[in-house]
Formats: sequence, C-alpha cells, structure tokens
Amino acid sequence: MVQCEYTETCAFYKEGMADRPAIANMMRKKYCARNQSACARYMIIKTVGKDRVPVDLVPNDVDTARNIIAEG
Ligand code: SF4
Repeated sequence: MVQCEYTETCAFYKEGMADRPAIANMMRKKYCARNQSACARYMIIKTVGKDRVPVDLVPNDVDTARNIIAEG
C-alpha cells in the first residue's frame, strides 16, 4: 500500500502527539506509510467526512471512530 493521501492535511501526521513523539512516529510508520485503511482517522474521513475527525484522535482509536461513524 502507498503512503496515505491525507498526510499533507492530517493533524496527527503533521503534529503527532506532543508528549509522545516516539509513539507518534511508530504510528506514522504503521498506519500512514502502509496501512491507512486501519487508521481511525482515515475511517472517519472516508465515511462521514474529515470535519468529523476529532483533532486529537490517534490512529489506533478505532472504537471512537466506530462510534462517530455510527452516529452518521
Ligand atoms: S493518521 Fe491516518 S488519516 Fe492521518 S495521514 Fe496517517 S493514515 Fe492518513
């Protein structure tokens, strides 16, 4: 899989987690670089739209993503 198409605009990709830069970098490699379809932020963008993505949502918080998507 190729790099996520939203890296230019994604708040997580650009800013990561200020207090945990090592974990943020690990997530960029795990999700942004090769498996964006598993990313919580990506799931929301693709279903209910980028405006619904919480600014601080991390890629592995799929439960939150599912709740937001279920709300429609
Ligand atoms: S955090 Fe998710 S939506 Fe953002 S650039 Fe990475 S894979 Fe794409």
